[in-house]
Amino acid sequence: MSEMELAVEKLKGDSGDPGIEALLRRMKPEKPTGKACPKCGKRIPVKARDRERTVRSLSGPVTFKRNYHYCEECKYGFYPVDRLLSLPEEGELTSEMEKRVLDFAINDVYGECAARWNLHYQQPISENLLRRVIARVGAQCEAADQGQLQHELKPTEDLADVLVVESDGSLLPIRGPEPWKEAKVGVVYRHDREASEPIADSARYVAVVNGLGEFAPVLEEALHVERIEEVPTVVWVGDGAVCNWTLADQLAPDAIQILDWHHAVEHAVDCGKVLLGEESPWLPLWQQRAETLLSEGPDAVVAELMECIPEVEKRRRDRAEALEALNNLVGYYRNNQRRMNYRLLREEGLPIGSGAVESAHRHVLQTRMKRAGQRWSLRNARRMARLHAAYRTAGALGFYDAIRRTSCAGASRRANPGAIRNGFHYARYGARDMNRCARTASN
Ligand SMILES: [Zn+2]
Repeated sequence: MSEMELAVEKLKGDSGDPGIEALLRRMKPEKPTGKACPKCGKRIPVKARDRERTVRSLSGPVTFKRNYHYCEECKYGFYPVDRLLSLPEEGELTSEMEKRVLDFAINDVYGECAARWNLHYQQPISENLLRRVIARVGAQCEAADQGQLQHELKPTEDLADVLVVESDGSLLPIRGPEPWKEAKVGVVYRHDREASEPIADSARYVAVVNGLGEFAPVLEEALHVERIEEVPTVVWVGDGAVCNWTLADQLAPDAIQILDWHHAVEHAVDCGKVLLGEESPWLPLWQQRAETLLSEGPDAVVAELMECIPEVEKRRRDRAEALEALNNLVGYYRNNQRRMNYRLLREEGLPIGSGAVESAHRHVLQTRMKRAGQRWSLRNARRMARLHAAYRTAGALGFYDAIRRTSCAGASRRANPGAIRNGFHYARYGARDMNRCARTASN
């Protein structure tokens, strides 16, 4: 059976190129008349006739001729036939090929992609081709109007009842003098109060390498597409890092802020380790007690921690260290007091954990970008992070077309500034905020 199948596939492959070329020949011949500039709409005469282009299609290379036009005003050259065929402006692939190469490249390291590709298709591709496609489409993804891109990736018609926002940072291995660079991931999803769980397939992701200054406006666009200002309940779950709350105050001033439950417990356990010892058999009991008190709310836990102080002061060993741990924990809870009404939040069916952004870190960044031995150039890291977030938002089937649509729309909008949406005010992110967050980013 394998032999038969492969023989038929080969037959299909061999008849492919003439087939595509025959179909291309059926198109009406291109008239050498003026064509509308995609940017300004003016009629532009032909600048050069019958320029040849060869692209790799699913059934092999295909060559055709088309006219070139150049708009002096926009400083923009274009091929109407390429646009008619929805071919990528640059590169050596048809859209269908580029879409598939991108799907491989985004999901695996390039060396393995090339090998896996050969299992699926007859014509081999090189690692370099995979790299070029990521660079090309990644650049489009980065340059796109982020609001429009979010809309194309996941259109929203109805309004969420509860919208949850989470953001988090982690470090990526980068080539060059600065070996690590912070990557920020944000996730926005809809939450079902009745079932007290996230609504399936409602999540949108954003990922930006290079700190909060660039991350904030991208996350803001994702929130804007969800019409955050009209959503009845917005919830922002964070790990307690100050810059998280600064961001929440700026982007969603009316949101209910919630300190992630697991971080609240983890801090208590860390303090327990200092007070009782790393290996203490009492630690599980300590954690259990902390959880019981935390589920009541911040007052109960702070009151009981304060009662520990006289006991700690009687200690002979490690007194200063123990007091400091206790102090830090009380400070952490007090700073986040209004974000810790866990009992009430549970009753309301609202989420109290930031599990979504932690898992987003794994599937948006780590699985592809933090493999053993990987070091990224900053430019490629930025592009790959953006592509991955888009991929996870739209899914394998929709994401390439969403980027292409946004990118094409962008070309005509840039030429027509009146069409640029007014509204969002990145200027709010003053330099002072940026520096403050850079300092606290290590929390
Ligand atoms: Zn023009």
